Amino acid sequence: MSERPLPVHTTVEPFPTEDNCLVIGGQPVTALALRAGQTPFFAYDRGLIDARIRRLRDAMPERLELHYAIKANPMPAVVQFIADRVDGLDIASGRELRVALDTGTDPREVSFAGPGKKDGELQDAIGAGITVTVESATELERVLGIAEAIGRTPHVAVRINPDFELKTSGMKMAGGAKQFGIDAEIAAPVIRRIGEAGASFSGLHIFCGSQNLRAEALVEAQQKTFELVLRLAEDFPGEPDFINLGGGFGIPYFKGDSPLDLAPIGETLQVICDDMVRRFPNTKPVIELGRYIVGEAGVYVCRVIDRKVSRGQVFLVTDGGLHHHLAASGNFGQIIRKNYPLVVANRVFSDELEKQNVVGPLCTPLDLLGDKMDLPRAEPGDLIAVLQSGAYGPTASPAAFLSHPPAVELLC
Ligand SMILES: *Cc1c(COP(=O)(O)O)cnc(C)c1O
Repeated sequence: MSERPLPVHTTVEPFPTEDNCLVIGGQPVTALALRAGQTPFFAYDRGLIDARIRRLRDAMPERLELHYAIKANPMPAVVQFIADRVDGLDIASGRELRVALDTGTDPREVSFAGPGKKDGELQDAIGAGITVTVESATELERVLGIAEAIGRTPHVAVRINPDFELKTSGMKMAGGAKQFGIDAEIAAPVIRRIGEAGASFSGLHIFCGSQNLRAEALVEAQQKTFELVLRLAEDFPGEPDFINLGGGFGIPYFKGDSPLDLAPIGETLQVICDDMVRRFPNTKPVIELGRYIVGEAGVYVCRVIDRKVSRGQVFLVTDGGLHHHLAASGNFGQIIRKNYPLVVANRVFSDELEKQNVVGPLCTPLDLLGDKMDLPRAEPGDLIAVLQSGAYGPTASPAAFLSHPPAVELLC
């Protein structure tokens, strides 16, 4: 590990360095580039994923089940690694369904949410015996019809669109008019219908939003969520298998962001779990997390192809960009573009920094990874690593835009 100070704007947390080179999963990125056979590539550090899940478990009530939302990072090897360490998987498409079942996870611990599920996806889900989380009254009728046609009793949960919002979230997914879930005030007849139709009532799913760094906001949403669950409980056709209280735990991406304080969230969930076990002794309390589990464990590595100066500004033109990592370019839900933390991966520390722009190969000014960043002077051949890149990378990016090859993904 180098003793020299970091460039002021960057951090290599949580990755060590060796000979001034970033190390992921025990291997320098220069070695990983050889393993990948190309740049750009994503590398995910299994040790960091494991440590993150352990820390979560320590901070959360013992009864609380932890689910992984596959959409954050659906690489099969990553999903398998996480599946062996969590209690269930949340999916949102037929393909995620196959990845989830391939892990060997008990189908009853897999739940399928998302608007616009197709008949074929519903049939696969009902046939596999996983929980289908219905997002509308009409979707429930389709589930019942398909289940009858294939002679299965479906396990059905109801996604509720609550009558409140999760404040200060990166993405709000509940409250007001939304395509997600059934509005709380009209959910009772849908919940009753599950019992009347002879289906198995799995529970409720209430997910308010994503990427939240404020514990107070999450605590408030969890309390309101549980109050809503208790109101809706009058219409439960039986004791539910689980109550999914959502998630939304954020990770720090930008200068000035502080990591989420888990302690108050764990305390609130402990109170909720204690209350829940009194009222519904057989119901599992669940939270579902995606980026919090994988986001900080991954990097995106690309190579400098050209270095040019335009009217006094330096541009490092790399082979990586928004086609693999839309979020790092600032075009995936951000309102104001900010730089993800990035480093010159084969020359992390340097006494001499230079203001440089890091751009990609696409023919659009949106293809920007680093805007006027103070970095060690980089040359063609050097590697650039974008940190905080374990979630919403390749599968949340327009890979076909400009027809460049896809990024390779490595689990290290
Ligand atoms: C996207 C999503 C998640 C995961 O969100 P993260 O911010 O990655 O934790 C969880 N649940 C639902 C319903 C989602 O749509």
